Amino acid sequence: MSQYVKDLMADVKAKNPAQPEFHQAVEEVAESLSLVFERHPEYRTAKILERIIEPERIIVFRVPWVDDQGEVQINRGYRIEMNSAIGPYKGGLRFHPSVTLGILKFLAFEQVFKNSLTTLPMGGGKGGSDFDPKGKSDLKIMRFCQAFMSELFRHIGPDTDVPAGDIGVGGREIGYLFGQYKKLRNEFTGVLTGKGLNWGGSLIRPEATGYGCVYFAAEMLGTRGQTLEGKKCLVSGSGNVAQYTVEKILDLGGKPVTLSDSNGYIYDEAGITKEKLAFVMDLKNVRRGRIEEYVGKFKTAVYTPTDPKLDYNPLWNHKADCAFPSATQNEITGNDATNLLRNGVFVVAEGANMPTTIDGVKRFLDARILYGPGKAANAGGVATSGLEMAQNSMRLPWSREEVDNRLRMIMQSIHKTCVDVAARFGTPGNYVNGANIGGFLKVADAMMDQGVV
Ligand code: NDP
Repeated sequence: MSQYVKDLMADVKAKNPAQPEFHQAVEEVAESLSLVFERHPEYRTAKILERIIEPERIIVFRVPWVDDQGEVQINRGYRIEMNSAIGPYKGGLRFHPSVTLGILKFLAFEQVFKNSLTTLPMGGGKGGSDFDPKGKSDLKIMRFCQAFMSELFRHIGPDTDVPAGDIGVGGREIGYLFGQYKKLRNEFTGVLTGKGLNWGGSLIRPEATGYGCVYFAAEMLGTRGQTLEGKKCLVSGSGNVAQYTVEKILDLGGKPVTLSDSNGYIYDEAGITKEKLAFVMDLKNVRRGRIEEYVGKFKTAVYTPTDPKLDYNPLWNHKADCAFPSATQNEITGNDATNLLRNGVFVVAEGANMPTTIDGVKRFLDARILYGPGKAANAGGVATSGLEMAQNSMRLPWSREEVDNRLRMIMQSIHKTCVDVAARFGTPGNYVNGANIGGFLKVADAMMDQGVV
């Protein structure tokens, strides 16, 4: 680690105590940017990175609501407006009991670079609440979403800040949030993305993160003259990103064999087919059940419950070619990375945000596998949100093919940026440097142009 990064991190840790995920995200980017600062000291003089690290604005608010039993509940709501140098703040809302300021700051920070890579004019933001939607009735979810939006509506708008979904926030929640925004503002605008198709949503938005991640993996494989055909794939999670990752792996001839939720994972040696995926989609999106039920239905699969005592995740300990972590942050530790490499995995495309620890990332980079970090590999979701915003502004919807083609082209462009920039800065094949530097340069130049604001 260079002296510059050491000093920067000491300052970040002192100013932002007890935010380990935020420290982790900043450290990874700062390491890559050391290469840029050697050639472009003007960015250091202008303290561009130091400014990006400090959110432009943080909004923290009380979310009081009344549950089905008439009891008053209080949650905490957040919106981090991280950087608006290249466009309105853009990034998802996460509803999960693990949500803290530090988690949302890491996500907002990552989002700045990711959004820049998409080529679309979007700044970075993130928000959410420590509310746990799991097992709650639709009525409770609606009441909570309305209470959350009753404060958030003051701070967002189609040209200011455009939230979307993330963990725990899917189509149902976006619907309730949009309804409340519209009522309070008396305006029908493209203020949220991930909307329903009948009221301003875009075709392919639900599929986009998973599809985009697989397109990115296919591009990486292409650099070695290979395709996904016949490749055995480990996928974690079973939510939005995981589901459409599995669907696109199947479309491109790969064989997905795992899925998980926070209670455990399934391994299906025969492969997860389209039919089995339809069962999972119904289980997770309609019946809102647990992944364990998969083995009751399909006898080719085995279920392994999560064991917090283990220092590795057995999901990542199967023979395979590719891994698509699609659940949550830090789900691949150093031990998991070692297991993946030992089992023959040579493609890792991150659907989730920062699913690999710094130790795990180092092992992937040392092994010179095709490792696509989340800010590049999962950028298809926010890119398609950007396409939803464009359609909302035009008041004209595009066809499925049109949006899918644009998504594919954007993923190809992000891949090319990563490859070109990594090579230009002397680290060919290093997608981490490619994504961090590629995302940074556009934001940094915009900030230089706009002065110290
Ligand atoms: P969903 O809520 O739809 O699904 C999340 C999945 O991950 C569920 O299977 C959930 O299991 C599992 N999970 C969540 N937290 C944990 C945990 N702490 N330990 C183990 N499993 C966990 O979310 P998404 O699919 O939308 O998001 C998944 C990841 O992708 C996140 O990192 C998100 O930030 C990232 N992402 C999402 C985008 C999008 O467009 N939705 C865009 C870009 C990135 P359970 O149900 O048991 O909690």
